[in-house]
Amino acid sequence: MLSIKDLHINFGTLEVLKGIDLNIAKGKVIVVIGPSGSGKTTLLRCLNILETPSKGVLEINNQSIDFSQKVLRKDISAIRRQTGMVFQTYNLFPHLTALENVLEGPVTVQKRNKRDVHPEAVELLRKVGLGDKVDYYPYQLSGGQQQRVGIARALAMNPEVMLFDEPTSSLDPELVGEVLQVMKQLAQEGMTMVIVTHEMNFAREVADEVLFMDGGHILERGHPEEVFSYSKNERARQFLNLLN
Ligand code: ATP
Repeated sequence: MLSIKDLHINFGTLEVLKGIDLNIAKGKVIVVIGPSGSGKTTLLRCLNILETPSKGVLEINNQSIDFSQKVLRKDISAIRRQTGMVFQTYNLFPHLTALENVLEGPVTVQKRNKRDVHPEAVELLRKVGLGDKVDYYPYQLSGGQQQRVGIARALAMNPEVMLFDEPTSSLDPELVGEVLQVMKQLAQEGMTMVIVTHEMNFAREVADEVLFMDGGHILERGHPEEVFSYSKNERARQFLNLLN
């Protein structure tokens, strides 16, 4: 359902992704780990083309782009329609309520009728545990609640794949669990997910596969237990020992 072939990206003279190959089957949960600066966020941002790779092919749900060719705006839109992104800093519209934040994408981008989307948006907020907060503004919500609005907002676009970029790393420790719980529930419902996180216990429990990145390469991939306990890669072992 999602495939990447020989993906490269440069920022000026710095090559940050150096030939990434990856296939993700529908319904799988992939957790990306690795040291700071290894390219995890950049990889995620390439998946919905918030960054434009210099080379490589990206295919999601039969929509594909070859970055060696001229990239057309309509192809970028087609890929973006397949993905929902959740950011480290929630990026909610501060002047809109939780409900209005969730309605925004379907109404403004997908041009859907607000009356049709309204019950879906309320249901999504209920699903992330915020059924009683629909009319609250972001400043009236805790970080964990704002992040859950962020998840509902991404889900409102009905994506095939959800991309999470360190979704809990801005949160106070006591609020991390409520966000991870929502993500776990999504995983159990069969959502395809790619998650950059330092939450190793979550990765162990929820991931189908863990990818270890370093220096713009995927150095290891496998079942969480394999990677965490029996990694064959020296860099991955060092990194995981550092974290333990
Ligand atoms: P962290 O765990 O610290 O978030 P990361 O593995 O997610 O790190 P990236 O954020 O992908 O790493 O960054 C990889 C490298 O690319 C870093 O050296 C970073 O400085 C550089 N980089 C990322 N985005 C840009 C950009 N827009 N312009 C220039 N350099 C960038």
